[in-house]
Amino acid sequence: MKNHTFVAEPQLSYRSGDRVAVLLPLPLAGAYDYRVADGMELAAGDFVEVPLAARTLTGVVWGPGSGAIAEAKLRPVRTRLAAPPLPEVSRRFVDWVAAYTVSAPGAVLRMTMPVPDALRPSAPVVGYVLGHVRGESPSVPALKVTPARARVLALLEDGVPRPVAEIARAAAVSAAVVRGLIVAGSLVKCALPAPEPPPAPDWRRPGLALSAGQRAAAARLQSAVGAGFSVTLLDGAPGSGKTEVYFEAIARALAQPASDSVTDAQVLVLLPEIALGAQWLMRFAARFGAMPLVWHSEIGAAERKRTYRAVSEGRARVVVGARSALFLPFSNLALIVVDEEHEASFKQEDGVTYHGRDMAVVRARLGEIPVVLVSATPSLETVENVRSGRYGAVALPSRHAIAPPAIELIDLRRDPPPKDGFLAPTVRHRIATTLQAGSQALLFLNRRGYAPLTLCSACGHRLCCPHCTAWLVQHRLSGRLQCHHCGYAQAIPPACPACGRAGSLVACGPGVERLADEVAALFPAARTVLATSDTLTGPGAAAALVTAIEAHAVDIIIGTQIIAKGYHFPLLTLVGVVDGDLGLAGGDLRAAERTFQLLSQVAGRAGRAERSGQVLLQTHMPEHPVMRALQASDRERFLAAEATARRETGMPPFGRLAAVIVSGADEAAVEAACRCLAQSAPSAADVRVLGPAPAPLALLRGRHRRRFLVHAGVKVSVSRLVREWLAAIPIPASVRVQVDIDPISFL
Ligand code: ADP
Ligand code: ZN
Repeated sequence: MKNHTFVAEPQLSYRSGDRVAVLLPLPLAGAYDYRVADGMELAAGDFVEVPLAARTLTGVVWGPGSGAIAEAKLRPVRTRLAAPPLPEVSRRFVDWVAAYTVSAPGAVLRMTMPVPDALRPSAPVVGYVLGHVRGESPSVPALKVTPARARVLALLEDGVPRPVAEIARAAAVSAAVVRGLIVAGSLVKCALPAPEPPPAPDWRRPGLALSAGQRAAAARLQSAVGAGFSVTLLDGAPGSGKTEVYFEAIARALAQPASDSVTDAQVLVLLPEIALGAQWLMRFAARFGAMPLVWHSEIGAAERKRTYRAVSEGRARVVVGARSALFLPFSNLALIVVDEEHEASFKQEDGVTYHGRDMAVVRARLGEIPVVLVSATPSLETVENVRSGRYGAVALPSRHAIAPPAIELIDLRRDPPPKDGFLAPTVRHRIATTLQAGSQALLFLNRRGYAPLTLCSACGHRLCCPHCTAWLVQHRLSGRLQCHHCGYAQAIPPACPACGRAGSLVACGPGVERLADEVAALFPAARTVLATSDTLTGPGAAAALVTAIEAHAVDIIIGTQIIAKGYHFPLLTLVGVVDGDLGLAGGDLRAAERTFQLLSQVAGRAGRAERSGQVLLQTHMPEHPVMRALQASDRERFLAAEATARRETGMPPFGRLAAVIVSGADEAAVEAACRCLAQSAPSAADVRVLGPAPAPLALLRGRHRRRFLVHAGVKVSVSRLVREWLAAIPIPASVRVQVDIDPISFL
């Protein structure tokens, strides 16, 4: 990413009659001008309500008006909301992200105000109590006491005021029953006390006694806190104590006195797969005596609102969240930690396409604060930034005297599984001895469902998604065929839809459900559990699984990548990787890197406590450089080979890429738009534009897709290049053009 410099605006205020620019959370070209209404005073960052056509929308005062609208047409700002203004750093962040990702600023603004409700004062919570003296009969003589009403009256005998919803739930009646009693006058209103603010994490509590190496690393991170912008990679094998070490940096940030700012310092921790962070939350609570606030797509509306407010009012001290948490309006953010920084799930692929890790670095620079990137298998981008001196690095020595688990390559060509099975004889044997020793085994296969392909044994017809260029995945637990791209699902048909032959459909290839069948047949006495996003549908289910594994209520875990991250299971000593070649088959830029990271991470699950572990990796290509580097646990060798290959081809991080995806339901319109774009594609010495070519997913959710790929030298600002290219081409409304700067997925 290139450096952008900003000139801080003086904190202007706008008075009645002034022209102000208001940015609306909509994908419009920019901010719109409004007039400050009579008797109103506004400042940049204020949340306001303004008219747009016949609607009233909430937006943010962005600065002085541009003058683009004639004075006579200027409409007044309706109201200024009492919510804390959007901080200046958040506004600069919105502009920066919009420019970099080639998105409308309003589309980025929408990510900073995802809970419109939170901007308005909430109605005071009211509760209800009995309208008569306890023990006496209802004061409403004509009241018909049905059994449901009787339950409500009995519940409220204790005199505790409760909101309607809670009364209904506790008395097992509908809200209408409660409301009926209110109308009848037998329940009366009373104010409820405001909810308690969340308890603050206590940085004074002592952490674990750190080893000398951990202490040194913690001191380095702590010295960066309060010292302006910096990026530091915290690098160490799984289990080396990275989490404990960055907790020390968090403690230091929280301990900072609130000086030039009215609110206390805040900390943001970004984690991938936040739904599975139960173990992380418990550790945080153990260290700091209180839970952090949590932010991700699955939390409920009420909690989102509470958390958003706590952040904007400066009451939230520590927030742990998915990438979207980066856009919360922190007014005094003092430290960002990006755990598992190499994870592809930090990349948002829909709407505004951005990389959470990269934007965290940008946010840190704008806020002049440190960011810590944490990984046992850092991305090549980060490694290269460390090598060139842009980022600092702290490495943690391995904490265990025992060597990291040995990785054995199981050559499937020499040691093939029996027909209809997927586990090689060696792997079967090792599982048996592991179970005999009272230890646990994890079988890893990054494929949900029963089988990735269903085909007709009579005519060869393959069952494909009607809306996507993709096979339907067979799920036996749900008895359905599913498209993993668009969510299309249908029942497994009894006969081939092409030739009509009954009972001819066969499942091809392994999914975790099929593997579970094989394991159940081989080890009928073992307690097995399936861990995929289909079985772990929420944080509760994930926490229950972790508890069961820790309590040794499970012998064999069969899972997808959902289980690969960040867990510590002391009894887990055997990891079997069923298809080590899976990630390498994709043929995209980072296939080898991702395979290396994922498999190292899975391997890290084995033998993290007293018992030493072993990792068996089934592969058809044991001679492949990724497999060799894995076997030797030689990360440096792998990274060096990968860097050489990318440097030779000018690929990131030694070159720049940007994808432009053109899609629409009407294929002819898509092609016409592509022709126009191709004709005026940018040309320069350091720039090549490839395409248009049908995307690998040429059909997705019923839309035809073509891709352009811009490949440029490192010094080229691809964002500006793409923005100027697209701005000159009129695109019909039926065609969508999506820009993906620094693409990760090439589908
Ligand atoms: P990483 O984040 O590198 O995988 P963790 O910080 O999660 O490592 O540490 C792995 C395990 O070791 C955790 O259970 C942690 O509490 C424990 N641990 C780490 N450092 C220490 C220490 N100095 N003393 C005791 N336990 C430690
Ligand atoms: Zn589909």
